[in-house]
Amino acid sequence: MSDHAPQPSRRRVLQALLLAAAAPALLQAPRARAAGLPPLPAGNPQAKALGYVADAKATTNAAHKPGSACANCQFFQAGTSGCAIFVGFAVAPTGWCTAWAKKAA
Ligand code: SF4
Repeated sequence: MSDHAPQPSRRRVLQALLLAAAAPALLQAPRARAAGLPPLPAGNPQAKALGYVADAKATTNAAHKPGSACANCQFFQAGTSGCAIFVGFAVAPTGWCTAWAKKAA
């Protein structure tokens, strides 16, 4: 038996060091992108079709249930104000649309 344990190659050591150095930046990138979601434009055709309003209290849509708003919708992503229905846009926590579905407790 040899006294020499297998040594990691210089290449593997360099790869590990580079990955460790880049990890914080790689982890931050999606968060930074998500935090900068543009607000859902009022003229967005899908928003119009679903009766989106930035203030749920202002809607006259008969489907609106009192107390329902983006903030308590299952499609709302609190960290970014994103919405799974309006991908790539931020919606108002006080908003509402006809796709609203109660967030599971
Ligand atoms: Fe708001 Fe939910 Fe409609 Fe998205 S699906 S806009 S979170 S009510």
